Amino acid sequence: DSRRTASTLADALEAVRDVIDEHAEELGHIDSIAGDGDHGIGMQRGSRAAAAEAASVVEKGAGAQTLLARAADAWSDRAGGTSGALWGVILRTIGARLGDDGTPSAASVSAGIVAAKDAVMSYGKAKVGDKTMVDALVPFADTLAEHVENGASLVDAWAAASTVARDAAEKTSDLLPAVGRARAHGEKAVGVTDPGAVSLALIAETITRVLSD
Ligand code: ADP
Ligand code: MG
Ligand code: MG
Repeated sequence: DSRRTASTLADALEAVRDVIDEHAEELGHIDSIAGDGDHGIGMQRGSRAAAAEAASVVEKGAGAQTLLARAADAWSDRAGGTSGALWGVILRTIGARLGDDGTPSAASVSAGIVAAKDAVMSYGKAKVGDKTMVDALVPFADTLAEHVENGASLVDAWAAASTVARDAAEKTSDLLPAVGRARAHGEKAVGVTDPGAVSLALIAETITRVLSD
């Protein structure tokens, strides 16, 4: 039912906060090589605020869409930076697809992720190969949709998509940055993974564990 969905989302946001905490230093370090070094702290601020907001609205019986809209605002307000705005877009877009009532199907979750990918690309104007989170998000969304269409369960489809996202995030190391702050650093970024792609893969992997519980 809708209460159970909201509480799973609140658990997922807590797990996201924890995995970001564990990796904040590493994310900041990657961002310091070809960026301004704030990706770890920004993601930490955003995910902490989103998890706290979700926990508070779940107590009040909010549905998935309301919960994700409030978490999205908390994340983008507190994180600052490009990735904070984009994570706000991601959460709000997924929520709009899920709605406030009932239990979302694998197909509606997959449609939410595909819509989030489209929204990020339309908001940020980055394409695949520009060395951003889009490089992990596109294969993640494509793989999830493909597995769900072929009849896989949400958890199996999500697990497969997370593995693909992790691989794609690692491969951003070969790319030359085309947008964002890293663009100015050009060659310095080659040999280093994109921080936003790495954090997206970490988040996807963590949610696999939440869905398996
Ligand atoms: P800022 O660059 O404002 O300091 P962060 O360090 O938190 O923000 O996030 C940087 C990450 O944001 C990059 O590693 C990249 O993945 C992502 N990013 C930057 N610009 C864009 C964009 N136009 N579209 C998609 N993702 C982007
Ligand atoms: Mg930064
Ligand atoms: Mg910054």
